[in-house]
Amino acid sequence: MIVVLKQNYTENQMLEAIKAMENGGVKVMVSKGIDTTILGAEGNSAGIDEEFLAQLPGVERVMRVSEPYKKANRKYHPDDTVVSVCGKKIGEGGVSLIAGPCSVESHEQIINIAKKVKASGATALRGGAFKPRTSPYAFQGLEDEGIKLLIEAKKETGLPIVTEIMSTEKIDLFAENVDIIQVGARNMQNFDLLKQLGHLDKPILLKRGLSSTIEEWLMSAEYIMAGGNNKVILCERGIRTFETYTRNTLDLSAVLAVKSLSHLPVIVDPSHACGKAWMVERMSLAAVAAGADGLIIEVHNDPKNALCDGAQSVTPDEFKIISRKINTIADCIGKNI
Ligand code: PEP
Ligand code: MN
Repeated sequence: MIVVLKQNYTENQMLEAIKAMENGGVKVMVSKGIDTTILGAEGNSAGIDEEFLAQLPGVERVMRVSEPYKKANRKYHPDDTVVSVCGKKIGEGGVSLIAGPCSVESHEQIINIAKKVKASGATALRGGAFKPRTSPYAFQGLEDEGIKLLIEAKKETGLPIVTEIMSTEKIDLFAENVDIIQVGARNMQNFDLLKQLGHLDKPILLKRGLSSTIEEWLMSAEYIMAGGNNKVILCERGIRTFETYTRNTLDLSAVLAVKSLSHLPVIVDPSHACGKAWMVERMSLAAVAAGADGLIIEVHNDPKNALCDGAQSVTPDEFKIISRKINTIADCIGKNI
């Protein structure tokens, strides 16, 4: 349930409404927006006396919310959420560019790519240190050493770092060193992990699960937010369909759906969505045109010899062109990088 307060409500009238809700057995979330103030019920609102609440002097209207996600719901928080990362803002109307290799492979590789993507306008550097691979015999990432190399790349370039967490055991290492913690598609419903990330004060990049509905995805965001961490960035990375030509099927309509259902920023990963480097440019432009708040793109200095996901990785030169073209699209729709 949400309660919309009248434009000219007084503090006492708000407290009165909050009390009426709390008496019904819920916790109340206050969202003071630009135009409206909303009181959102957290928990089961069946015990609230709706008629009594509706006639209170500060109350404009009372609405039942059918969606199971509350904190992630735009009805509870009409204004867009902006997530700050080292002074850069994701979701404030611009297009954030996260770029870098699928995996950190060596000092030379990550520093080289970091410098190049920075020069082309990247907002943050990505690079996997702990890799979720289908085969146990495939390269699993440099693990802790990979995190160290990302920190060095950050020192060298000033770019914030984004990397994937796979296990709750590494929460402290990530909380201390990583600027945006990525939850990969395969872990979208690792509820233990989500709960623990909910206790951090750290941006979380939550990828959509391989076969997850939009509602399941938003419920995973809700897990993180329920713990008190509202810094969630959603990432559409393609979903499993019957099509095999592309690695996944990029669901661009999900960007619009999620931006309407939720206030959280949404970015798009065209690399994992398509699995083909030659598609990344056009899908990036389409994602920005669809209203995405940013992109996460795999960039490798030597894609043919990459230890992971080379086929979908663009080169730094190609990234430079993509970045330039994104500027043009962003301009057309009133956004800026
Ligand atoms: C990745 O970003 O390298 C990755 C493994 O992504 P996803 O979880 O979307 O497959
Ligand atoms: Mn990858």
